[in-house]
Amino acid sequence: MAQVHTVTGPIDADQLGTTLIHEHLRTQDEAAHVQWPTAGTAKEDPPHEVGPGGDYEIAVREAKAAVDLGIETICDPTAMFLGRDVNFMRRVSEETGLQVIPCTGIYTYDHLPQFFLNRDPDQIADLFVHDIENGIQETEIKAAFIKCAADEPGVNENIEKVHRAAARASLRTGAPIMAHSRPASNTGPRQVEIFEEEGVDPAKIQIAHTGDTDDLDYIEPLLEKGVWIGLDRYGLELFLPYEKRQETAKALLERGHADRIFLSADSCATLDWFPANVIEQLVTAGMAKDWTIRIVPDRVLPELRESGMSEQQERTMMVDNAVRWLST
Ligand SMILES: [Zn+2]
Repeated sequence: MAQVHTVTGPIDADQLGTTLIHEHLRTQDEAAHVQWPTAGTAKEDPPHEVGPGGDYEIAVREAKAAVDLGIETICDPTAMFLGRDVNFMRRVSEETGLQVIPCTGIYTYDHLPQFFLNRDPDQIADLFVHDIENGIQETEIKAAFIKCAADEPGVNENIEKVHRAAARASLRTGAPIMAHSRPASNTGPRQVEIFEEEGVDPAKIQIAHTGDTDDLDYIEPLLEKGVWIGLDRYGLELFLPYEKRQETAKALLERGHADRIFLSADSCATLDWFPANVIEQLVTAGMAKDWTIRIVPDRVLPELRESGMSEQQERTMMVDNAVRWLST
């Protein structure tokens, strides 16, 4: 039995159980956080609205809620620039029993610091390989997958470099890749192309956020490449409303694609990207609705069952696909 690395150590792949493929226990701007440690937290004066106890208690609360709804494992794609902290994840996992799978990689849409501008893809891959083989942030916790991203600026020079580094680290270690994408900017096909040029098996590639479009003529050609797709932003209304996400999921299930689909929310238990009042405005404006780790088990799955999703399809998407993506 293949093993998968979690923040509390390796487990047999068949111990993953019901898995949400894309949820964040905490998201913060790591440079701002290091320089102004209390900004955007409950310790700030005046406090930012992150609730009693701050981000740790909120992450625990959300993780417990997921466990109560039958979730056994999450993949947490919090990479560099999102404030990755594997000890934080480990503490939340130990306290709640939720299995948490960490990643290596770089989350950027464009910017790279000098450290990376002046290194080539192989040297960047060395860093990712270190996390996968030796451990993250001087711990024994090993990364189980590699994260990269392309968004509105498209697959420009810096983004291509990170993708090639991710691909080479994947080839050297066997670790799969999760690539944040932006269908509205047509990034998915080019991302897949780069991985193919580097020789990565499509079965190792997950194109996250493909569910931000309901255009089957965009989605199906990606699926034909043999990659995985994430219908993984339920609740983020600003990119695609909930009902359209569900219609897309149903259509893809009817067309027989359950074996390549992940359902998740890309929730962030806490997020410091915006001041509290702006987050409130975004919610009031309807740009995010029920955008939590709970939405898939609590709402998405019951509705899909009602509309004809079979037990086998559900098991494929929520259990078997994670095992296959992480351990093939
Ligand atoms: Zn994410």
